[in-house]
Amino acid sequence: MSLPSETDLRALAESAARACGVDLSAAAGEHVGLSPINGLPVASLAWSTPDQVAAAVARAATAYDEWRLVPAPVRGGVVRRFGELLREHLDDLATLVTIEVGKITSEARGEVQEMVDICDYAVGLSRQLFGRTMTSERPAHRLMETWHPLGVVGVISAFNFPVAVWSWNTAIALVCGDPVVWKPSEQAPLCALASAALLSRALDEAGFSPDISQVVLGDATVGLTMVDDPAVALVSATGSTRMGREVGPRVAARFGRSLLELGGNNAAIVAPSADLDLTTRGIVFAAAGTAGQRCTSMRRVIAHTSVVDAVTDRVAAAYAKLPIGSPLEPGTLVGPLVNERAHSSYAAAVSAAQESGGELVVGGERVLDAEAAGAYYVRPTVVRMKEQSEVVHTETFAPLLYVMAYDDLDEAIALNNAVPQGLSSSIFTQDQAEAELFMSAAGSDCGIVNVNIGTSGAEIGGAFGGEKETGGGRESGSDAWRAYMRRATNTVNYSGDLPLAQGVTFDV
Ligand code: NAD
Repeated sequence: MSLPSETDLRALAESAARACGVDLSAAAGEHVGLSPINGLPVASLAWSTPDQVAAAVARAATAYDEWRLVPAPVRGGVVRRFGELLREHLDDLATLVTIEVGKITSEARGEVQEMVDICDYAVGLSRQLFGRTMTSERPAHRLMETWHPLGVVGVISAFNFPVAVWSWNTAIALVCGDPVVWKPSEQAPLCALASAALLSRALDEAGFSPDISQVVLGDATVGLTMVDDPAVALVSATGSTRMGREVGPRVAARFGRSLLELGGNNAAIVAPSADLDLTTRGIVFAAAGTAGQRCTSMRRVIAHTSVVDAVTDRVAAAYAKLPIGSPLEPGTLVGPLVNERAHSSYAAAVSAAQESGGELVVGGERVLDAEAAGAYYVRPTVVRMKEQSEVVHTETFAPLLYVMAYDDLDEAIALNNAVPQGLSSSIFTQDQAEAELFMSAAGSDCGIVNVNIGTSGAEIGGAFGGEKETGGGRESGSDAWRAYMRRATNTVNYSGDLPLAQGVTFDV
């Protein structure tokens, strides 16, 4: 399979960005972005200086004064228009996602579809930002809560969902009345500029300030400038646990709010009654899809001793046939790792797993390196482990799956929960009692607990996020919107008297 040339990819990226309304010459600068597809430059862009970041936040804070007073359903109208523009430019944005982060076309289109979905969701939500009314202990009193906009939301996003994560935050933040300043991954600036250009168009058409949605480009330094700015009310940061360990305490130190979506180390338990065909398909998509570069990618299989050999053999057979190559080619199912650093971590983990007694079942090698020395394609890899050793406790962001055996379900649940991360988990079983136990308080300790489906591929209707070192944040559906608003409790007295709570008397 041949990989596309630098000229071809540059031209494709430029035309997709232009179609979304981005003038690349205006954004040009000295920071060269490489495509994981061929390891060659795609575009050179300017990064924001600390002063520019501060100025963007200040402009957003000014825009907030106006935006928070716009009726929420009118704000929803802007998000509806943004959703329409996303539908129109779905292929353009998906092309940029593929070029900058290496997702296969179907997954890149799926990512943009998720942006469309969250816009639809947020439009409906714009009429449902309601609080509760509580019964008061005092006569002729009313107790209720109201939800108000919060302020500027700073979004820091990871490379592997370069546009969807921003849209989950932004569609919800906008209907909640909050302007957004976005620091995208340094790997995906074109995706960011193109998505933001579509939102700017929607804001402009409705006559609202462009400062309601802004982008600042750069690396961790740019992110930290936003993190430390007291005018950013909520920092929503998606990325590694290492990043969250720095961001969380810094935001807390200034009593800001943070929403952290960090690393995962997701397992599937395969019980004796599991449907092995369905299980195998579920494992292969979750573990090898997106070249193992989803926060929810499956990294561990904990299979009952009666089925562990069969599961390993089936997954290995499927892996051996997976088409690896350019993610732009129809038929490819496994694209590249994002960069050389990702490949080094993968290679180090494969070695460490073998050194700690693991048996390499399939994969372990780099492919297509003769075609493109700077691109990092690997064969999805399975290592059979005797125990859940130290390397298995670490998130390696690559298609590397560890398989372990268990004898009883309590042992399997203990293994599922023994890692420091707590994002996603699955059980494959036909036994309802086992499924219920896994979903109960005595079961998985993760934020996502699935039955007969892999660990990845969540829908936007549910709240998304995880526990422990995954950071505790929740985004997207359910009541995740509350993180983007502040709550006021109101007590209204229409009695004409002044009875005090808890029976207190204070006669004056
Ligand atoms: P990363 O932590 O290297 O970078 C993520 C973002 O944070 C980037 O924009 C980066 O510039 C910024 N950043 C890094 N260090 C920072 C710091 N000290 N201060 C401020 N900003 C900083 O992660 P990545 O390699 O881009 O993405 C992969 C990681 O993201 C994996 O660990 C994956 O599990 C995680 N992830 C989690 C979720 C989730 O929802 N839980 C979703 C996607 C990715």
